Amino acid sequence: MKHPRPVSVHGGHSGQFCGHAQDSLEAVVRAYIDQGYLWVGITEHMPPVSDDFVYPEEKTAGLDAESIRARFADYIATCRHLQTQYAQDIRIYVGFETETCSGSLDFTQRLIRIFNPDYVVGSVHHVDDIPFDYSQSCYHQAIDRCGGPDALYAAYFDQQYEMIQALKPRVVGHLDIIRIYDPEYRSRLVKPVVWEKILRNLTLVKQLDLILDYNLRPLTRGESEPYPFSPILEKAAEMGIAIVPGDDSHGVSSVGQHMREAIERLQAAGHNTNWRSPVTDRP
Ligand SMILES: [Zn+2]
Ligand SMILES: [Zn+2]
Repeated sequence: MKHPRPVSVHGGHSGQFCGHAQDSLEAVVRAYIDQGYLWVGITEHMPPVSDDFVYPEEKTAGLDAESIRARFADYIATCRHLQTQYAQDIRIYVGFETETCSGSLDFTQRLIRIFNPDYVVGSVHHVDDIPFDYSQSCYHQAIDRCGGPDALYAAYFDQQYEMIQALKPRVVGHLDIIRIYDPEYRSRLVKPVVWEKILRNLTLVKQLDLILDYNLRPLTRGESEPYPFSPILEKAAEMGIAIVPGDDSHGVSSVGQHMREAIERLQAAGHNTNWRSPVTDRP
């Protein structure tokens, strides 16, 4: 089919449940329906492991780890409600996006046991507990901590590997987000010391039969390509790894943004657009 129906394997952050997003979750869901989505995985950020991992804008809003946990419980309940309420219009999956930092594995597994999500997106936003994607200055702090940009990339892909092995998330989020503030990412990602780690991680993704998030967030920031960048995208196609668009929406205005371009890029790289669902149908 030339123009497959859009889906999103990672998205639906909302101002109702996330300090750096906009709009109510219901408004976001309605936007997906209006745009004719076949299905959408709503994957809000998981709450912080402890107060040490509360983000500045959350602190400013008077939140701490405990109150964000309560908000997360409300998120899951609200999302389940919307899943039923709009069942005739769209297939909604109730998920969440993980963090990877000290103490996160046990905490994530506990959240999975308590809330029983349809699936999780396994993401890494910290290296050595520094939230490298939060700002330029955090990014440079992480580079200094690791001893240089190549070492930062290496540490990131090692942490990602451990996370995939331990958690086996149905979807692996924005595989190369470590490039976020690096103008030289194209040459750095293919340096042998980095590229071999990427290949190792892709091999594990393939072995476990997981799905990659084709994450459109960089396009909404005016960058030239989604995560992962094209050589990884092509390698994944060659390896037969499933990759599915994730608009990583953070409000109504980013629902479906750049989806058409993403689908064209996936088709051009040789990927299948019979989108793999993150939720295997149970009898
Ligand atoms: Zn977010
Ligand atoms: Zn993320």
